[in-house]
Amino acid sequence: MTESLAKGKGVVAIDGPAGCGKSTVAQMLARRLGYIYVDSGAMYRAVAYRASQAGLDAERDAQEIGNLAGELTFEFQQVGDEQHLFGDGEDVEEVIRSVEVGNLSSPVSAIPAVREHLVAAQRQMAAPGGVIMEGRDIGTVVLPDADLKVFLTATAGERARRRWRQLQEQGIIEDYEQVLRDQLERDKRDSSRAVAPLRPAEDARELVTDELTVQQVVDVLESWLQDALARGGTDAQGT
Ligand code: C5P
Repeated sequence: MTESLAKGKGVVAIDGPAGCGKSTVAQMLARRLGYIYVDSGAMYRAVAYRASQAGLDAERDAQEIGNLAGELTFEFQQVGDEQHLFGDGEDVEEVIRSVEVGNLSSPVSAIPAVREHLVAAQRQMAAPGGVIMEGRDIGTVVLPDADLKVFLTATAGERARRRWRQLQEQGIIEDYEQVLRDQLERDKRDSSRAVAPLRPAEDARELVTDELTVQQVVDVLESWLQDALARGGTDAQGT
């Protein structure tokens, strides 16, 4: 690691649509730099999971779900080689990755009170610096002063293929066409919602990952962060 990365304890915001590879990339970069990795989507999934357990519906029971988000505690912990999310002390990592919870998390995350609580928790996690946080609104809302803001994309077909392969590896058998349809639906909802819609921050650097390996994307982001820290943050990049 170069001196400026270690010393700078930078803050990196990575946003992008479902399946663009941001979780894998953010996790690898965090490991490489010794930074904290925060998967903000996991937190929305945990709220969706808890809401469904309680028999709550995003449209009908928005207020209850907002309260639930305010009461739930979140903690990321290393379990073996992986980082798991604990909600109220329970390891929810596996249950929140199901297709149902993924689909439910989109309407749940459109509830303003849910976002308020989760954004506050995410800012607290980032406060010490040396953080890579990924999601949909990290550069625009959660960490507008991040040293580096990145918007990762890939074509819809490529994103659905990656997601489909990932599900297969987890032993979850889904029809590719269904994965593509779910993903397009989720992207549409995430991009068109009134609160914190998915979009690049004005000063975000964009990267299309279709033709790149994970390693290549991580290398690009590391060099961008190095530039940003040397120049004193995203604003100074002129991109
Ligand atoms: O990233 P992931 O696909 O796990 O996120 C699940 C859902 O949580 C997304 O579809 C989106 O609706 C929501 N989300 C969000 N804001 C974030 C991260 C995720 O609204 N920062």
